Amino acid sequence: MRISDIIKEKKSTLSFEIFPPKSDVALDMDYILGKLAALKPDFISVTNSAGGNGAASGTAEIARLIKTKYNTESIMHLVCSDATKADIEAKLATAENYGIDNILALRGDKVNRPDSDFCYAKDLIKIIDGNKFCIGAAAYPEGHIDSPSLDADIEYLKQKVDSGADFLTTQLFFDNSLFFEFLEKIKKRGIDTYVLCGIMPVLSKAQINRMIFMCGVSLPGKMVKILNKYENSTDDLIKASIEYASVQIEELLKHGVDGIHIYTMNKPEIAERIIAGLRTI
Ligand code: FAD
Repeated sequence: MRISDIIKEKKSTLSFEIFPPKSDVALDMDYILGKLAALKPDFISVTNSAGGNGAASGTAEIARLIKTKYNTESIMHLVCSDATKADIEAKLATAENYGIDNILALRGDKVNRPDSDFCYAKDLIKIIDGNKFCIGAAAYPEGHIDSPSLDADIEYLKQKVDSGADFLTTQLFFDNSLFFEFLEKIKKRGIDTYVLCGIMPVLSKAQINRMIFMCGVSLPGKMVKILNKYENSTDDLIKASIEYASVQIEELLKHGVDGIHIYTMNKPEIAERIIAGLRTI
């Protein structure tokens, strides 16, 4: 089923993101998917790694498994920065054969492939048949890290939507007020599409330092205090950050957002605890 149709039907969707196992790491996908599917999300998304670091394959297979074995809708991420047009056409043909209805079209982080046919995600979106696939794209409430400004990034976002994106999923953010301002700005720019909120629970100070460095997301004072207070106690840090995420989600839902997309980092217990936290609020 097309994710845009699911969003249309629901007040707010709930979705999870997972990544395929890297070739050197044993991951029990069945365990992860079983636990996540039991939480009855509207869909599960599967990342795709650019540059062939071992996790490049498996995305389509896992997206198919989610549908066929776990009876849950899925979306396959598709990265174009490391691909030629022929590579992408082959991947789209596989997706179609597998019965996958949804593609998250991404540029990916830059990789040194001079013969790639794609500069930006919009170029990928243009060659995906919107009748065969519902197309999602990435959005950045604080602007993409390489972008000169948020306004410039929103111009490029408009190009992505005009190229055929049916919905957007955001980069993680911790400050809801920045997201609400972003929604206002894109609305003013004439971007009228569904926007799902990316929420990432913090599991360690190192993880969040990495994310700030990679994505340039800002940390509200409350989250900084949590990180400092529980720096040496992983259990307490996770407990406090799950509580933070639950309160953040509660506020977003009250605001009537289109959906909540949780970056589970393949840890279904964390998703379970957030959902349980939401039920107690
Ligand atoms: P684009 O929309 O192409 O933007 C990339 C940069 O180019 C931005 O700075 C933008 O402002 C700029 N730009 C766009 N158009 C133009 C233009 N016409 N002229 C000049 N500049 C322009 N990465 C993975 O490798 N695998 C994944 O599975 C994955 N999943 C993700 C899921 C979500 C929800 C999000 C938010 C990100 C994900 N990423 C993933 C990360 C993503 O690949 C990176 O953030 C990447 O750097 C940008 O991808 P994009 O599709 O947003 O690119």
